Amino acid sequence: MDVLRYILVLLGTFIVMEGITWCTHRFIMHGFLWYLHKDHHQTEPGFFEKNDAFFIIFAIPSMLLIYFGTFDKMWWMQAIGFGIMAYGVAYFIVHDVIIHQRFKWFTRSNNSYVRTIRWAHKMHHKHLDRHNGESFGMLYVHKKYWEKIRRDKKLMAGSRKVAYAPEAD
Ligand SMILES: [Zn+2]
Ligand SMILES: [Zn+2]
Repeated sequence: MDVLRYILVLLGTFIVMEGITWCTHRFIMHGFLWYLHKDHHQTEPGFFEKNDAFFIIFAIPSMLLIYFGTFDKMWWMQAIGFGIMAYGVAYFIVHDVIIHQRFKWFTRSNNSYVRTIRWAHKMHHKHLDRHNGESFGMLYVHKKYWEKIRRDKKLMAGSRKVAYAPEAD
């Protein structure tokens, strides 16, 4: 069925994009294009960052694939284009809104996944220069960050119990 294949290509592209993002971030943004990414690690005043150029860099192939896919009736090309676009939207919501809160749309969340991606990315930002980085992905995070959040939640629950425990006589 064509619709099903279309969705599979789109979802496949979305998943592959997380890997491409990791590689781009690890080897290109922290590599020869560090001069564009640097102001994301060493914050400078102003709303826009040079780092925002990467949105355009990723939007161009996505738009070209949608454009040529539509006009040449190459459905798979269009599906890949929309997959890249969908990942871009998800990345924007997770990285720019939820993590860095450039827009105050979602404020504090206690959701484990939200806390985990925030923590993992915070660890990425702990490194101010381009070397010895960690956590270059975005939507998929290493289990050590999950474990840290789980430990924190347990500790919080524990201290709450102690604080509110009725006095023993
Ligand atoms: Zn970085
Ligand atoms: Zn960031």
